[in-house]
Amino acid sequence: MRPELTARQEKVLQLRAEGFSGPQIAAALHLAVATVSYHETVIVHRLNARNITHAVFLACRSGILDGRPQRHGDHAGYQAHIRRGEDPKLCPPCWAGERAYRNGAKVTRTEAPSQNRPEKALGGA
Ligand SMILES: [Zn+2]
Repeated sequence: MRPELTARQEKVLQLRAEGFSGPQIAAALHLAVATVSYHETVIVHRLNARNITHAVFLACRSGILDGRPQRHGDHAGYQAHIRRGEDPKLCPPCWAGERAYRNGAKVTRTEAPSQNRPEKALGGA
């Protein structure tokens, strides 16, 4: 049995699970802080939880959230938002990371070695 949450409620819960505060979630989703609080009240009620932390736990246990950490803040995180069907521009760290990636800035976070860039490897300047 999987309690029904709206996509927006799941997103609020996901961000809570990732450790974001109410004001941070509000900023990421372009909502008022009070609206985030309202969503959380509904989530807690729907999941029969005692509070939002308990709701995160119950959601992970029941499969509403998969519990896996989501990568944020770089091109890979940006791409992951797209694969999940989300608007990556709603995630400020990923959007900033993507802009840096597009500008050719060095992304310091774990780069996958699968993508070689011969023009950089061969450039002898
Ligand atoms: Zn992100």
